[in-house]
Amino acid sequence: MAEAKLNVELIDFTQEALSIIYASCRQCYSSKFAGDIFNEDIDEEQKEEFVRKIAASGHESPLEHVKFTFAIQGVSRALTHQLVRHRIASYSQQSQRYVKEKGFDYIVPPSIEKNKKMKAEYLKVLDNIQHSYNALLELYDQDGIRGEKANEDARFVLPQAAETKIVVTMNARQLLHFFKERCCTRAQWEIRALANEMLQLCKEKLPSIFGKNSGPKCETLKFCPEGEKFACGKYPVLTEIK
Ligand SMILES: Cc1cc2nc3c(=O)[nH]c(=O)nc-3n(C[C@H](O)[C@H](O)[C@H](O)COP(=O)(O)OP(=O)(O)OC[C@H]3O[C@@H](n4cnc5c(N)ncnc54)[C@H](O)[C@@H]3O)c2cc1C
Repeated sequence: MAEAKLNVELIDFTQEALSIIYASCRQCYSSKFAGDIFNEDIDEEQKEEFVRKIAASGHESPLEHVKFTFAIQGVSRALTHQLVRHRIASYSQQSQRYVKEKGFDYIVPPSIEKNKKMKAEYLKVLDNIQHSYNALLELYDQDGIRGEKANEDARFVLPQAAETKIVVTMNARQLLHFFKERCCTRAQWEIRALANEMLQLCKEKLPSIFGKNSGPKCETLKFCPEGEKFACGKYPVLTEIK
């Protein structure tokens, strides 16, 4: 058992993303064929400018042609439970049926990390859970039940803190939506940290789409729709504008 830390890698993304979005946007307004537009010798800056304007105007469907795939580890099951609520995405997650959790790694929330007494209590519980999980597997084994049949039921005692690994693919439009929801300070700290790292990786590859207006929804709206109680203060709330 060991404490695990967030690690995100961008393992794939659509090559020629800018040209694909550009050709798709232009197809909507041009008598030309997108296949020809795609191969036109057009300045990158010109493409970026065009794509930026179109996306900012809310014409986002061309962004769906471009996808990003992330390999993620060092996150809790509490995080992935929230992540997979985003339906317009593809996921492949490490299974607790096929992978035994003998000596599972875990995530420690920062609020617990900084408090010695809390951390001691937390580690004690995790240790007890590990002990019970291993004991259950042994009892299953004595009953002649092994492998995934034993794992799938023994895992019921595992905590949300258990570390997991997941591969996620989202298209650029859905990523913008995901960042709007999950980069916001209202989002839970762990998924927010993940979303912020994913945003950085996207920014590096496609700055015209994931530029300064991407991130939490206030960056596009220029106000906070969450209301006074939840606003972080970066932008005024709607009532202040009115
Ligand atoms: C701060 C925060 C707190 C939250 N708290 C809770 C909570 O307490 N309990 C809880 O259950 N969930 C909670 N959620 C999860 C939230 O309700 C959503 O399920 C999650 O953010 C997925 O986003 P989404 O619904 O926009 O859909 P996604 O699956 O990301 O889809 C993207 C968009 O596609 C469209 N879409 C997708 N599927 C449909 C559909 N079936 N019908 C119509 N349109 C569709 C919608 O426009 C949607 O916004 C919370 C989320 C956040 C960010």
